[in-house]
Amino acid sequence: MKNLSRELVSRIQEISRPVKIMHVCGSHEHTIMQHGVRSLLPEEVEVVAGPGCPVCCVPAREIDECIELARQGVTITTFGDMLRVPGSRGSLADARADGADVRIVYGVGNAVEIARKLDREVVFMAAGFETTAPTTASEILSGPPENFSVLSCHRLIPPALRFLIESGEVNLNALIEPGHVSTIIGMKPYEPFSRDYNIPQVIAGFNPLDILMAVYMILRQIDRGEAKVENEYKRAVKPEGNLKAQKVMDEVFKVTEREWRGFPVIPESVYEIRDEFSEFNAREKFDIEVEDTVDTPAGCICGAVLRGVARPEECKLFKNECTPTSPIGACMVSREGTCNIAYRYSSF
Ligand code: SF4
Repeated sequence: MKNLSRELVSRIQEISRPVKIMHVCGSHEHTIMQHGVRSLLPEEVEVVAGPGCPVCCVPAREIDECIELARQGVTITTFGDMLRVPGSRGSLADARADGADVRIVYGVGNAVEIARKLDREVVFMAAGFETTAPTTASEILSGPPENFSVLSCHRLIPPALRFLIESGEVNLNALIEPGHVSTIIGMKPYEPFSRDYNIPQVIAGFNPLDILMAVYMILRQIDRGEAKVENEYKRAVKPEGNLKAQKVMDEVFKVTEREWRGFPVIPESVYEIRDEFSEFNAREKFDIEVEDTVDTPAGCICGAVLRGVARPEECKLFKNECTPTSPIGACMVSREGTCNIAYRYSSF
């Protein structure tokens, strides 16, 4: 393994040039930080983290919606990480401390089991990218009980990439595409970025060699004057993705626009439940009104971190007031959050 990484690093050095590569995956950031991958790369080869943490990308408005539902007496079920993500006026953990019934589940199936046992309304707050959306869709298709519904916070990666490329804020030249998301969506959704914006892209796996290989493959494309989508993670990602999963997602979800934390409204970037399944859509089932929302607490630069234009170490609150045990912003809450990862591995 050491020999292989040495070989890759030396090949990278041979064709190195100034380039800014963005990845959009919490697991990629974890590997990069844990194994010091950035320190192996030439200074001119920059790898920046984008919006790769699905929990962090959920905007305050959607947390506020859940808190409002909890106040109406609905049982809220969601992943553990979501509990401490800040809404505009507190988190779901705060709502629970105030007496709301907020429960941690390991998946949508768990939430349905809870609904079957309870004589009250149960809402599953469904966060996650294309990787987790198929399980939510399958559960809705399998006929959950009447007292169960979903508040969909599922988000799609390619529209966020398009936004980042077109905004020009990050000035990215290349993309390392997320392995997990790509197992579902395949290679095709990324193709327009190479064709229309001349962006080399490589879908990568999750060990340090995968990342080094992806960087090398990107530099090789640039060296050859190419811009295309390559698949370094062939052991898991098929070019067409998972067609079965795509089918259930298409059946249950429609694509709509909504804001992401740190981003304005991104067109066609969110999955909402189709009208045919509106009885399982919490936004249709309940009257949810939330006031104006505030996405980032004072001093927190999570938005800039999520857009890849700032590092956690640039935040004045990092490792001071903001830590994983006492997180101020969303990026410090989840173990996939860039600030949380930096807290654990950065020497800053
Ligand atoms: Fe926000 Fe904390 Fe990250 Fe600063 S360190 S950007 S306050 S989450």
